Amino acid sequence: MENEPVQMKVNGSRLFIIQGDITRQTTDAIVNAANSSLMGGGGVDGAIHRAGGPAILEDCKKIVARQGRLPTGQAVITTGGNLPAKHVIHTVGPVWHGGDRGEAELLESAYRESLKIAAESNLASVSFPSISTGAYGYPVEQAAGVAIRAVAAFLRERETSVSEVVFVLFDTGTYDAYSAVLREVASK
Ligand code: ADP
Repeated sequence: MENEPVQMKVNGSRLFIIQGDITRQTTDAIVNAANSSLMGGGGVDGAIHRAGGPAILEDCKKIVARQGRLPTGQAVITTGGNLPAKHVIHTVGPVWHGGDRGEAELLESAYRESLKIAAESNLASVSFPSISTGAYGYPVEQAAGVAIRAVAAFLRERETSVSEVVFVLFDTGTYDAYSAVLREVASK
């Protein structure tokens, strides 16, 4: 059981999880857990800008010049620069304030808006990190439930170009939390 891939099929698309570094993924796009400034930061955001090079930040600056800061729960797309992925979709997850400030809705929106942009860009495969569960403090067991249900709902509710969604989880604790939720959702 341990080594079986943890995955589910939704409406012909595949949703699965792996443990690893998102900057090495070869999906059409990887998603960045950015902040509203789009100017880079720590965690996965810093890793993506370091690995992808300056072209990503150049695109981000153009977007901010055009539309201002990126609100929480929204998403935009840039080049992937030197990354194996052609595109980076930048989204902003909520900062955890205890759970009664719309955090779940905002986190759900971050996943949904990212997938909408992927579909609008006709992409087939997308990798997500665990948005908001690092510096932003969202409890990972709760975030995993919101994340997997948001992606499954998106795939279920419409026909899209997106046929593969991968959660790329950096550490074992995060992987285990997503694995538990995915097994539960897939068994229903
Ligand atoms: P946030 O500010 O949204 O909480 P963080 O980057 O602080 O974002 O953390 C989000 C998650 O991304 C955490 O689980 C963190 O361990 C993970 N992470 C950090 N670097 C990488 C990476 N290179 N690939 C995948 N996940 C990463």
